[in-house]
Amino acid sequence: MVTKFLLTFAICRLIVTVGLAVYPTEILRSGDLEGHLSMDPSDVVSVSRDFGGLSSAEPMAVLYPASSRDVARLVRSSYESARVFGVSARGHGHSINGQAMTGNGVVIQMSGHRKAAPPPRVSERLMYVDVWGGELWIDVLRSTLEYGLAPKSWTDYLYLSVGGTISNAGISGQAFNHGPQISNVHELEVVTGKGELVTCSEDQNRELYHAVLGGLGQFGIITRARIALERAPQKVRWIRVLYSNFSAFTEDQEFLISLHRQPEALKFDYVEGFVIVDEGLINNWRSSFFSPRNPVISSLHADGGVLYCLEIAKNYHQSNALAIDQEVEALLKKLKYIPGTEFTTDLPYVDFLDRVHKAELKLRAKNLWDVPHPWLNLFVPKSRIADLDEGVFKGILGNKTSGPILIYPMNKSKWDERNSVVTPNESVFYLVAFLRSALDNGDETQTLKFLENQNQQILRFCEDRDIQVKQYLPHYTTQQEWMRHFGDKWELFSRRKMEFDPRNILANGQAIFKPYF
Ligand code: FAD
Repeated sequence: MVTKFLLTFAICRLIVTVGLAVYPTEILRSGDLEGHLSMDPSDVVSVSRDFGGLSSAEPMAVLYPASSRDVARLVRSSYESARVFGVSARGHGHSINGQAMTGNGVVIQMSGHRKAAPPPRVSERLMYVDVWGGELWIDVLRSTLEYGLAPKSWTDYLYLSVGGTISNAGISGQAFNHGPQISNVHELEVVTGKGELVTCSEDQNRELYHAVLGGLGQFGIITRARIALERAPQKVRWIRVLYSNFSAFTEDQEFLISLHRQPEALKFDYVEGFVIVDEGLINNWRSSFFSPRNPVISSLHADGGVLYCLEIAKNYHQSNALAIDQEVEALLKKLKYIPGTEFTTDLPYVDFLDRVHKAELKLRAKNLWDVPHPWLNLFVPKSRIADLDEGVFKGILGNKTSGPILIYPMNKSKWDERNSVVTPNESVFYLVAFLRSALDNGDETQTLKFLENQNQQILRFCEDRDIQVKQYLPHYTTQQEWMRHFGDKWELFSRRKMEFDPRNILANGQAIFKPYF
């Protein structure tokens, strides 16, 4: 009774404050929310920021849903009212530019409170897991490992929500072989912008299914995802080797990812890489290998050149431990890295997948995690990747980066063109990720202003040279820019919006469609 009163009170306050023509009785008539709608300032503030730390927007309220029905009820109450309000799903809030925020609306906090989440349900026979949209990947991994199974495609960092990464793509070093995470989703349960709860897959409601995969939250809120699994390896041989020659580095990366075409061929399970422009503290945040005392690295750096690190990994089972040495050696023999620069470690599969979290803990201990992150992620066509080396790594960046620069190629054939995400028009394209942290430490080249300005310079460089990059985790502020981003896909994207969220209620923090409120 008391709960009911508080809930009615909270919704009434929402209406009075925003002036929204929502009738709480309409929401309540179909049954009370099972979860909790909060206007508590501390809840509101907690969803008004994100990992990027570059913007903030306070919603009127935060919904902590107890079920997908709660999500549907809230969206429907906006859709059916005379004046709509925005609804944004928020996973773990690890966006950079306020993508999960909404001003004057309601944020649905999908992650971080157990009440909403039915526990992951594994089908061993059909090799999939059904998970709540707000589930974090680390928890998906833990649940599936109980059955000796694991998802096939990952992100480098596991404290991200399923709904958040598959609204983008979800990529890591396995993507060359298994495709991005969105290529490994069998089925979704989605609340559309009309408040309808719909199951979609390749076989039913196909248009919605492809719209939502990589759809930047524009077409529906993912409440459940069915994710493909494989037998989980037990251990990983994790290797890094260095190059001073960029074309040798990219040729080797491209050779390694081309092996996906030969199912029986010996290959690495993970292929990534990064550019070493400087050896600052933050540049080492993901490193378990490098040490400033390492003689090879120091002498190589004495030349003042840029280095490239190929990062590869081979999964194995304990029972196969004897063969792993030979397999890795056979693969390494085919590569052209600088002799003597192999760094190798063996570790449990979970520790490998969860490697970035360890770095996070170290940065947190130094108060270097909760700082602004002006990240820039680009998909670059293979034919122009050398231009980025010349013009950006060896040019615009000088010898300071304020964070790691990831670089690795992927096969376009592993991406389903019917999904919403856009990639360059070549069979192989690279991710180049400038993962910088801005610091206020007196060094002008590490300030937010300097780094944001450098991002603009990089984008301008690509534009001037007609390098057809696509932003990954894109951020634009005008519809013109979004139209350019989607190119030929814009018409499809906007048609899907009309169909699944005609009142522009969802995820307006992406600033793609103008909200009607
Ligand atoms: P949020 O920031 O909460 O939301 C992102 C967008 O998705 C918003 O528009 C939101 O409205 C929408 N959304 C959230 N949940 C749902 C849902 N259930 N249904 C529909 N829409 C929803 N990405 C990679 O691909 N590979 C990486 O290796 C990688 N590493 C990262 C490492 C770090 C440290 C960080 C901070 C980010 C990394 N990312 C990586 C980027 C990350 O995948 C995206 O930022 C992702 O959106 C974060 O998930 P989240 O749960 O925090 O999403």
